[in-house]
Amino acid sequence: SGPLLSVRDLTMTFPGRRSASGRRGAPVRAVDGVSFDLAAGETLGLVGESGCGKSTTGRMLVRLLEPTSGSITFDGRDITRLSQRGLRPHRRHLQMVFQDPHSSLNPRQTVARIICDPLLVQGWSATDARRRAAELMDLVGLIPEQIDRYPHEFSGGQAQRIGIARSLATSPRLIVADEPVSALDVSVQAQIVNLMERLRRELGLAYVFIAHDLSVVKRVSDRVAVMYLGRIVEIGEKRALYESPQHPYTRALLSAVPLPDPAAERRRERIVLLGDPPSPAAPPPGCTFHPRCPKAQEVCRTERPLLRIAASREVACHFPGD
Ligand code: SF4
Ligand code: MG
Repeated sequence: SGPLLSVRDLTMTFPGRRSASGRRGAPVRAVDGVSFDLAAGETLGLVGESGCGKSTTGRMLVRLLEPTSGSITFDGRDITRLSQRGLRPHRRHLQMVFQDPHSSLNPRQTVARIICDPLLVQGWSATDARRRAAELMDLVGLIPEQIDRYPHEFSGGQAQRIGIARSLATSPRLIVADEPVSALDVSVQAQIVNLMERLRRELGLAYVFIAHDLSVVKRVSDRVAVMYLGRIVEIGEKRALYESPQHPYTRALLSAVPLPDPAAERRRERIVLLGDPPSPAAPPPGCTFHPRCPKAQEVCRTERPLLRIAASREVACHFPGD
């Protein structure tokens, strides 16, 4: 059988912002030709700095945003151009968990209402939906007796558990989690990551797990894709990518991940990148990473490197490796 999710050349171009004088700026290519496959039950970590297009990619995958071009095939069906109505039978299989649990939950709805809503849309009876919501609360480590409370009565970590329960209500096969722990206290982050990992195993879920650093996705991912300025610059099996990153950007991101052994941590070399990522409205020519790359050569300023196989993964760099 084929992959659960197959993404080809996904692109999102936003119209340029209008300036005070009313003139429109250049269109912004937020996502520029992203392709990958995801098997059922597999987790892809999608990592990059803010503004690299990872959230936009995630929203396109669950069709909260319509791509400018490219295709999304889910379970063998092209869902790229389906209308909201045509999408309805697939909706239940594609769910999203958002970054800020409190702002993604309606403050005027009870937990029961929040978790039941997707079920009522699918035609469940109120009684069955409420029973299912209570089961889901238990599954994610909440107290089912608190089902009639409101989101503000819960901590950030608990609120994210509510968001996860809601995403699970319709028994999805794929969950796109957009930085699901970055708004939470550090002490709570590991609990939520562990919960999501357990749910994946027990329910056979596939995840696209979005994060801005490589430490968060290390535990949950089977494969990792690193994005820079709208493109995947390295994608491969987790172990290979963490043990021998091939793209200079991946190396820099990885050098910021704390090592568990303090001695190794002291010896290790930090690669500090100069400056911020350039604006996607005015991407540099050639390799878009060249203004910040410690390995940049002349060719990097003119020729765009395409993804190609290097050291058993795909890398977009003229000089992969160390
Ligand atoms: Fe650096 Fe050149 Fe590789 Fe781009 S192509 S990452 S500038 S070495
Ligand atoms: Mg984001």
